[in-house]
Amino acid sequence: MDFGRSKSKFQEVPATGVSFADVAGADQAKLELQEVVDFLKNRTSTRPWGEDPKGCLLVGPPGTGKTLLARAVAGEAGVPFFSCAASEFVELFVGVGASRVRDLFEKAKAKAPCIVFIDEIDAVGRQRGAGLGGGNDEREQTINQLLTEMDGFSGNSGVIVLAATNRPDVLDSALLRPGRFDRQVTVDRPDVAGRVRILQVHSRGKALGKDVDFEKIARRTPGFTGADLQNLMNEAAILAARRDLKEISKDEIADALERIIAGPEKKNAVVSDEKRKLVAYHGWACSGGALMPEYDPVAKISIVPRGQAGGLTFFAPSEERLESGLYSRSYLENQMAVALGGRVAEEVIFGKEKVTTGASNDFMQVSRVARQMVERLGFSKKIGQVAIGGGGGNPFLGQQMSSQKDYSMATADVVDAEVRELVEKAYARASHIINTHIDILHKLAQLLLEKETVDGEEFMSLFIDGKAELYVA
Ligand code: ADP
Repeated sequence: MDFGRSKSKFQEVPATGVSFADVAGADQAKLELQEVVDFLKNRTSTRPWGEDPKGCLLVGPPGTGKTLLARAVAGEAGVPFFSCAASEFVELFVGVGASRVRDLFEKAKAKAPCIVFIDEIDAVGRQRGAGLGGGNDEREQTINQLLTEMDGFSGNSGVIVLAATNRPDVLDSALLRPGRFDRQVTVDRPDVAGRVRILQVHSRGKALGKDVDFEKIARRTPGFTGADLQNLMNEAAILAARRDLKEISKDEIADALERIIAGPEKKNAVVSDEKRKLVAYHGWACSGGALMPEYDPVAKISIVPRGQAGGLTFFAPSEERLESGLYSRSYLENQMAVALGGRVAEEVIFGKEKVTTGASNDFMQVSRVARQMVERLGFSKKIGQVAIGGGGGNPFLGQQMSSQKDYSMATADVVDAEVRELVEKAYARASHIINTHIDILHKLAQLLLEKETVDGEEFMSLFIDGKAELYVA
């Protein structure tokens, strides 16, 4: 019986046909991987100390093109490409993973020079003994076999192992030693220019209308990976086909983008007038955020239900904000006020007794932000510039165990009071802004009930002279 030797869990592609030109952006990664390409072609190291490359880690979030890059390296060097997902190695039976690794390298060595690509290496390569309840025999044997294989061939045998991960921090340090995965290439989410180039790549062969402006789309998609952008263009193409259009126009792209961000619109959902009115006022209240300094401008307000949401207000965060990931104190305060706006609007318009449960998500968000500000960000005078609460992450679960408290009851009382104060202040801000702009609130709600969606420009034009009066605390 061939028990354990298993159907091979890897793929072998004699020629990937992918080149660096197919990978848009990622210039730094391509530059670093060029060395691997050169080595595979000439089999002499260009490094002065003559050490041959063997293993290289591609580090970055899912969808950023790590697999694509690995295929491009094989394509550029004109060598075969072996690939597997590490998670598929490990099965119920101890020893199966190790035998699959052996199998893979046997085949690869026979076809050298070649590339072996291991996706999600963290699935087997986590720090040993770090899981809950100690070691995992099967995982350990698999990783040991991988190490044995990598140590066993000399670099000039021409097998280069590329492995992808989003969590280099949890990897077993044995994997990172010299002669193993001793190089790291970072593959980040693309910036604006990168996104423009990726959009160009993925619109090859698609008929585009003249009004499509990649620069604009790129600006609206901060944080999108190559895979997200590919998905966007495909969705837009599907919408265009469904609408019997010969080419994709900017509308299909805008609609596809909203579907991706917020789930498909539920156009035929039956919504009562009362509910529509509620959502309309809620939407206005949220867009009140646009009046606050240090907050993002409104891109669009909609009362068409989507996914779980009754309606949505889209903000247009600036590129720097998204890319730096830095938020100021007043930004966070505004964020809370925006989230509370829905409840305030309900109270003002429908009366305190008539408020609904519609704002429960908003409350959760507000509490989370306030708690973060006090516990983790040092924004509370009483707690001070320290991070408290929440134990360390658990590498096995790959997540933060944040519910764990590491402070006393007395501190907990202070934290609660501080959180409450922040929320109350935000509530007062929201009330003030809504009460001082009540006429515009009614105009916008009316407009929303008529048109269902209002874009940023229309929203701003509701203000006298088209200029928003800034809220000053
Ligand atoms: P990862 O391995 O990082 O999860 P993939 O390489 O599987 O990501 O990317 C998925 C798809 O997204 C690719 O097949 C490709 O079509 C697209 N993609 C990702 N990044 C890029 C890029 N930089 N240029 C062009 N297409 C990209």
